[in-house]
Amino acid sequence: NAPLGLHLRAVALNATHVAIEAADVTDAHRLARVRRDFVANVSHELKTPIGALQLLAEALLDATESAAGMEPEDEKLEDLVAARRFAERIHHESARMGRLVNELLELTRLQGAEPLPTPEPVSVDWVIAEVIDRTRTTASAKSIEVSYAGPKGAMVYGSDSQVATAVTNLVENAIAYSGEDTKVSLTLRQDEDWVEIDVADQGIGIAAHDVDRIFERFYRADQARSRSTGGTGLGLAIVKHIATNHGGRVDVTSTLGDGSTFTLRLPARPPEAPLPLPAAIEI
Ligand code: ADP
Repeated sequence: NAPLGLHLRAVALNATHVAIEAADVTDAHRLARVRRDFVANVSHELKTPIGALQLLAEALLDATESAAGMEPEDEKLEDLVAARRFAERIHHESARMGRLVNELLELTRLQGAEPLPTPEPVSVDWVIAEVIDRTRTTASAKSIEVSYAGPKGAMVYGSDSQVATAVTNLVENAIAYSGEDTKVSLTLRQDEDWVEIDVADQGIGIAAHDVDRIFERFYRADQARSRSTGGTGLGLAIVKHIATNHGGRVDVTSTLGDGSTFTLRLPARPPEAPLPLPAAIEI
């Protein structure tokens, strides 16, 4: 039973509050876009010099081929062997920079303000077969067996290349963070509403305090261990974006030292409305 004047004032205050909030959201969006564009432009500009570095490093590797795996015996050879080692390092680091820039570009694209392409039916069998094929060489280098079990014919709706990128990132991680002679198992479950793809490994696992953070961009659980895989810390951020943009999600359960299971959950039905704008997550 507040006096009328007071009541009106309260409404007015609320209105101002709403207006301020709206301004904040617009500003936040504008800022997010500026930041995204900046990262995209810088990444794009870096592509050319990094490509040049990679070519130069390859030329240096060719030129120092005779010193491959050699131990220096006299002083002259010592220089050649050192040059070979530097060339190998430059090659390795420039390849890593190249991956980083590509993944940053991918992430900014996923965060882009344009609506997603019209959702197309995506055959999950086909995507999984492709991914297993593509990761075969890396898996067999560590004698890791990648298997798949699940019903045939599952469909999700969105972009087949994005779903393939998400599954590839999960399988590549499963291989990278596992020891030799282990197994990576992909399993598919389906009900009326959801298609779930599990990617389970018998690898190093993830500590409980890291589990909540590994989907953040650039977060890597054990710096030293992660670094030796040549990863960028962006792979899971990309998976999370793809999952969200498709109206789904990605989760993980893991035991340190025992292995991890990542679950990608995507809607089994076409969206009734167009897919939402990509979530504006800052980069
Ligand atoms: P990275 O390029 O480092 O692999 P990701 O974003 O793909 O970046 O993963 C983030 C971090 O999560 C990794 O650095 C690693 O510490 C952890 N991680 C991801 N997948 C696995 C896995 N299958 N097993 C153990 N740790 C994992």
